[in-house]
Amino acid sequence: MAEGAAQSLNPYIDRAVRSPYPENAWLVGSAADIERVFRSESATIVKNSFARWLSTVGSCEECGATRQLQRAHRQDCARPKLVREAAERAGRVGADGMLTVGVKALRVAFLELHRDDAQGRRLRCLCRTCHRAYDRASGASAPSAAPPA
Ligand SMILES: [Zn+2]
Repeated sequence: MAEGAAQSLNPYIDRAVRSPYPENAWLVGSAADIERVFRSESATIVKNSFARWLSTVGSCEECGATRQLQRAHRQDCARPKLVREAAERAGRVGADGMLTVGVKALRVAFLELHRDDAQGRRLRCLCRTCHRAYDRASGASAPSAAPPA
């Protein structure tokens, strides 16, 4: 594969984590609680950080369509799973077993979990129809009415 052809997410992550996140609230709870609270924020982060990436890829990786393109998390790293993992990485477990995590650290850890791994890119560029089919095939029960990331 020619250099650049893989359209790595990494440069977009580098850019996103450099931009300041001035506000820093703290979340306390189980990883599952934190995932629920952070759900819409995590969708926004993916959408904003990888907007340019989506237009760089430019067509659905399944059918070639160029309209209604969306970022689809690879089946083994669905967005809620990455949020829980980021909360565990960036947070501290207290004596009560609850996680305490700063939102700023959570955002950065969540973005970092989008770096390419041995299987390659963690996001696929899919049209709306192929995205739905892809998520259905993975058995991921996306929360109803949640906007796709
Ligand atoms: Zn498609």
